[in-house]
Amino acid sequence: MNKPTRPRILFIFPRWPNRTLWGHFKYKFPALGLLTIAAITPDEYDIELVDENCEPIPMDSDADIIALSVMTPLAHRAYALADHFRARGKTVVMGGVHVSCEPEEALEHGDSVIIGEGETAWLNWLEDFAAGSLKKRYQAEGFSTLEAIPPARRDLLKKKNYITSSTIQLTRGCPHDCEYCTVTAFFGRKFRMRPLDDFVQEYQQLEDRFIFIVDDNIMSNRKAAMELFASLRGMPKWWGSQAPITVGDDEEALRAMAACGCKSLFIGFESLDPDNLAKMGKKFVEVDKNIERIQRIQSHGIGIQGSFIVGYDFDTPAVFDQMYSFIEEARLEAFLISVLTPFPGIRVTKRLEEEGRILTRDWSKYDMNTVVYRPVGFTPYELQEGYYALNKALYSLRSIVRRTVNFKKNMAIFVPQNVGFRLAWKTLLRELRKEEGKYLSHKGAEAQRSWEGPCPHGPCGE
Ligand code: SF4
Repeated sequence: MNKPTRPRILFIFPRWPNRTLWGHFKYKFPALGLLTIAAITPDEYDIELVDENCEPIPMDSDADIIALSVMTPLAHRAYALADHFRARGKTVVMGGVHVSCEPEEALEHGDSVIIGEGETAWLNWLEDFAAGSLKKRYQAEGFSTLEAIPPARRDLLKKKNYITSSTIQLTRGCPHDCEYCTVTAFFGRKFRMRPLDDFVQEYQQLEDRFIFIVDDNIMSNRKAAMELFASLRGMPKWWGSQAPITVGDDEEALRAMAACGCKSLFIGFESLDPDNLAKMGKKFVEVDKNIERIQRIQSHGIGIQGSFIVGYDFDTPAVFDQMYSFIEEARLEAFLISVLTPFPGIRVTKRLEEEGRILTRDWSKYDMNTVVYRPVGFTPYELQEGYYALNKALYSLRSIVRRTVNFKKNMAIFVPQNVGFRLAWKTLLRELRKEEGKYLSHKGAEAQRSWEGPCPHGPCGE
């Protein structure tokens, strides 16, 4: 007698669109969310996971279930894949931040959607799948307690594809509610934490030297953070995470972090204009204290990747020079500058919609590098041009060397990161130049200063 076959699941993380920075960035991190969902999937399922950013998808897969994780800029690709696999008779389920905000749109392509954090709703979905009684919507009930999350299924990854396959999470939720941020919209403001022992056990088993703790704000709860740092002390590993700049006032925490291997912090400065910061709801970033706080963090051997947004309402073309000077003066080891992006479901999007300023809902343009709304202090075209020029200048070899080369700095972490971004920008701008010719030149910028005529970037067709 034939043994009954086990149902097969193919988890897919779709690729970034062509002509985006992230589509060209070679140093990749794995999608921890899918690895966690894979980890809670009961043993009776066979599982395969494909990250299309690193490897081709088996389009003729014989999996029974196709499970797609969808971020906004990847939505077009995710929907194309969903259509393909449904046409082949597969059951397609989608989840992730974008699907949670736009479930009706996703349901035009998939059999079911999972809304909210996947941990509990995924098991309900699997039960219904097994019983042959699938519904269209699976709404997570509140937020996951993070109590019984098993170690992520990193064994499903092809590790050679990633700069580190060791991403891990301890906490979710952030007490702040910055206007532009997806974190509180999706994970809420209430601090939640995995049992520390579970986390430490998983951390110890990670194979890479450098570990990225993906928590959105590792200092959300200072007491818990200090317990974490004490638990990690003595382990021969380096780690990075995300924290607010106010950690620069906390010598005790900085000492504890450095003593347990913290080598980098991703810090959201976002703007150098206090009016913008007030509008964002981020008053705790005090512009006049930035340099002092940065130096205090760096003095503990912790490098900083600064995060910035351009295009907020009080920005003008002067923002580009100002940001350039600040990043150089602060010797930020790394940085990530994004164009304000009105993702579905967040507060700034509602405001821009009410003000009639959204130019397109072509999600493939929502890559954080493309202007998809009408800014106040410049034309969309000036913002786009200035943004490209700023990144080009800061990823010059001269700037990279100035910001990273110093024996006290963590060059093994930051030099590859800068070089990776430099190469990605070069490739992207070369492609854009080829396609759109004049618009990246100064002459093109002059000609288009008032955003008249057909838009060379094509987001709105104005
Ligand atoms: S931007 Fe940072 S501080 Fe603000 S809500 Fe998001 S995670 Fe919290």
